[in-house]
Amino acid sequence: MGKINILDKHVAELIAAGEVVERPSSVIKELVENSIDAGATAITVEIKNGGVTFMRVADNGSGILREDIRPAFVRHATSKVRVEDDLDAIATLGFRGEALASVSSVSHLELITKAREEEVGTRYLIEGGEELSLTDAGCPDGTTFIIRDLFYNVPARMKFLKTDMAEGNAVSNVIDKIALSHPETAITYIRDQKQSLHTTGDGKLLSAIYAVYGREFANSLIPVDYTLGGIRVSGYLSRPEKARPNRNMQNFFINNRFVISKTAMAAISEACKGSVMVGKFPSCVLNIELSYNAVDVNVHPTKLEVRFVNERPVFDAIYHAVKTALQNGEKRIEVTDNKPQTRINPFELAQKVFRERDEQPAISNTPLKKQPLKDNSEELLKLLDEPVVKQPEVRPQILYVNDSGPSVAEQYKQHIEAKRAEALPADNPAPLPAQPVQTTAPVQPAAPEQPAEPAPLIETDDNSYRYIGEAFKTYIIIEKNPRELLLIDKHAAHERIIYEKLKKEKGSGYSQLLLTPITVTLNKLDYTAVMSEPEVFTEAGFDIDDFGSGTIIIRSAPQYLPLDDIESSVIEMAGYLSENKKEIRSEKMDWIYHNVSCRAAIKGGNINTDEELITLAKQVEDEDVRHCPHGRPVCVVIKKREMERWFGRV
Ligand code: ADP
Ligand code: MG
Repeated sequence: MGKINILDKHVAELIAAGEVVERPSSVIKELVENSIDAGATAITVEIKNGGVTFMRVADNGSGILREDIRPAFVRHATSKVRVEDDLDAIATLGFRGEALASVSSVSHLELITKAREEEVGTRYLIEGGEELSLTDAGCPDGTTFIIRDLFYNVPARMKFLKTDMAEGNAVSNVIDKIALSHPETAITYIRDQKQSLHTTGDGKLLSAIYAVYGREFANSLIPVDYTLGGIRVSGYLSRPEKARPNRNMQNFFINNRFVISKTAMAAISEACKGSVMVGKFPSCVLNIELSYNAVDVNVHPTKLEVRFVNERPVFDAIYHAVKTALQNGEKRIEVTDNKPQTRINPFELAQKVFRERDEQPAISNTPLKKQPLKDNSEELLKLLDEPVVKQPEVRPQILYVNDSGPSVAEQYKQHIEAKRAEALPADNPAPLPAQPVQTTAPVQPAAPEQPAEPAPLIETDDNSYRYIGEAFKTYIIIEKNPRELLLIDKHAAHERIIYEKLKKEKGSGYSQLLLTPITVTLNKLDYTAVMSEPEVFTEAGFDIDDFGSGTIIIRSAPQYLPLDDIESSVIEMAGYLSENKKEIRSEKMDWIYHNVSCRAAIKGGNINTDEELITLAKQVEDEDVRHCPHGRPVCVVIKKREMERWFGRV
């Protein structure tokens, strides 16, 4: 007997279903695209348990005529393509006529629909591809699909499904893309009985972006609109300084269809050369409009990847569109429908006031201009109203508050007093003798006007050191009695010390409460990665919480980490986590400790006081620090004898 069997209809259906229906998100994509093709202006999507047990897509579109219902579930049944020529110019999202056949063969499906021209609607039940019933239903114009128990009859496929959380996130991702590509459609998305997204359908892309990615993101965008050779590229690009460590937030649409396009990615990267740091990627939501017959979408069963009949003109259009947008990027855009509230960070304000004061004569009685203040800043202003001696420039730093520590006002007071003491004229006592690095106090900058003090001696147990100075604002020079000269790279040293400390204390003793919590909006993949391993952040000294819809709130951050660096640091960590899910925990932590310590450490070129450098040098000696976490040396020792040889003394 021959070995070739003709598969029975049911088996053939199951195999075909696999191509279109991979997981709940692919079902949702097909159904929502059908709704859009049916001219719906409002679509509600609801899922439970990641969509595996329950999915509902309801629209107010054309509805399906009763006589068309059965044919719609037949494979290759579509109302969208009739003849071969139609394939060259597909404007609708679906056209293969496979989705309904596939979905109904692997689930319990219920359809309730009414076409406008019909008096009465229809309820249709089909299970594993077998029709159960077709009856009258009282319902409004439009269509509702309810899919229950996906893959109930295909256990092999069921096994490949991920956790409900991961499947649900994949659905959310699909909804995000559809919402972004169809701002003219109001989309409501309910996940496990909670509304997770709602777009107004006002037709404005910015409103959709706002709904999907949040206010902060929407306010950091540069508009793009450019036409070249009949190809229009429009949408938004993130400001270069908001670039991310991966491409997860690059969204491209071709004629309002979400696609993955290598050409588009390459064009953006090329256009951003010189504006965006190497290894970073700007976020974008860009729609590329071109004639339908210039695109071949019939490449992949789920139609994500596109091919252009001609790639070059598309590349050029995107390239020039992005270049032009970057040039015009100074114009800031604001979301108007929801007025952004300005949060004032009192410490930043304090710095500003200091800076303004510095521009005034050394001792000034000029009253400070009152500024509108919030939070605890009233107290600050009172303090600042007294005349003070000229202050050195304050390097941007974080002022932290401790849960149990002094009040914010007290901290300001202490901080300001410390600043004033530092700035006292030279006839005041010499700088304090070196003390161990106080890990709780940020490293302070030098007062440039301060006259040079005699190089102080550092005494340790059995060695004494003489601090000679600093070369190139980078290397600390120490004479180590009596035979060695030490050159210490101050960044590498500080980085190593922070790294060890973070690692030893696992974040807990190294974290400080932020005066103003910071919110960061992440893309779904990065967000999921973060929320599935929040302890990674805790161990690095960050206290983070879920703030809903892709946003996390940061309440504490590691000491020393500059305020400006917190957001980008968290985004970078999130990107790393989502790309290295399989990495073992200790490797992840190591990467993160590196990252945080490198950002938090003082940099070569920074101005530091002698005391700071002495303390740092002392720590290097005490803790026997030899290499930075990247393996570069921290300290180079030059023997006196070697120097003597250089000069022919021995
Ligand atoms: P395709 O979208 O490729 O045509 P489908 O299997 O997804 O194939 O759908 C089959 C047909 O069912 C569509 O061509 C359309 O006529 C009809 N249909 C599906 N969903 C809807 C809907 N939400 N509203 C109106 N008609 C629909
Ligand atoms: Mg379809």
